[in-house]
Amino acid sequence: MTGLCMIGAVDIGGTKIAAGIVDDSGKVLSRMQAPTDPDRYDHGIDLITRMLRETAQQAGVEITGIGIGSTGPVDPIHGEFGDVDFLPGWRGKSPVKDLAEIFKVRVALENDGDAAALAEAGWGAGRNRSRLIYVTVGTGIGGGIIIDGQLYRGVDGAHPEVGHQVIDPTGPQCSCGFRGCWESLAAGPAMVAWIDRHAPPVYLHRPGITAKRICELALDDDAIALQAVEHEAYYLGLGLANLINLFTPDAIVLSGSVMKSAPLFLDRIKEVIRGGCRFVPAEKTQLTLASLGDDTNLIGAARVWHYRFGQQD
Ligand SMILES: [Zn+2]
Repeated sequence: MTGLCMIGAVDIGGTKIAAGIVDDSGKVLSRMQAPTDPDRYDHGIDLITRMLRETAQQAGVEITGIGIGSTGPVDPIHGEFGDVDFLPGWRGKSPVKDLAEIFKVRVALENDGDAAALAEAGWGAGRNRSRLIYVTVGTGIGGGIIIDGQLYRGVDGAHPEVGHQVIDPTGPQCSCGFRGCWESLAAGPAMVAWIDRHAPPVYLHRPGITAKRICELALDDDAIALQAVEHEAYYLGLGLANLINLFTPDAIVLSGSVMKSAPLFLDRIKEVIRGGCRFVPAEKTQLTLASLGDDTNLIGAARVWHYRFGQQD
């Protein structure tokens, strides 16, 4: 390493943009966030520029590089946005080129699932695991795949969509075109949908219930919530079992808001995996909880820069 790297990290989501400064060890020195303007890219770049300058000032550092993690399909090789549903006005734009011109530093871009996978592999729970799959379960299911220390990319640099593996073709319609994707059955909203369909009309906690609340109720031994948790764990287990059958990774790192309640699900998930996966050493794949917390995506954005330009450590 030559000198300290102070990376301006940018996490672009459909509803908010976070920016901050991340040091060489993956520590967030300063951060701020603001709502995303989905239609106006120029506003977005102005906003990111302001937030990076302000957080650099707060941290008392000069930005030496910029890493970006973004929702949706992005082209990591050319640094451009693809056809991102949430951000119609950003399509075909290149924040890599624009921010490089503004800040006069090198800039790298990846899908946010890949960015978070790189962060957990480099600075988090996935350290020293060369074959690692990162899975985040929240309002959707996303992830990233690292094989022999390298981020797996598909054709043209495409990001694989682990959340859109079909688990039950008779399941709910998904925006990707299929029915019964993993995401439609096992992301947080699926738990709420299960309560909507199966809880008795008189169920006291039905109005406005959330996945988080279902987990709290399950911890209090609420029988209906426990059933919702059982279904959630079953579907989580099936999707993870598929990943194990396909990749036999050293570890799967679990993250996202639903996984904050992981102890509710893990035993059942492991039981589901044991029930199949007989032709691979599934017991050797460790299910590990993510360790970088709520700033994983921001830290991941910084790791994107290190992965692209830094000395591999
Ligand atoms: Zn789908």
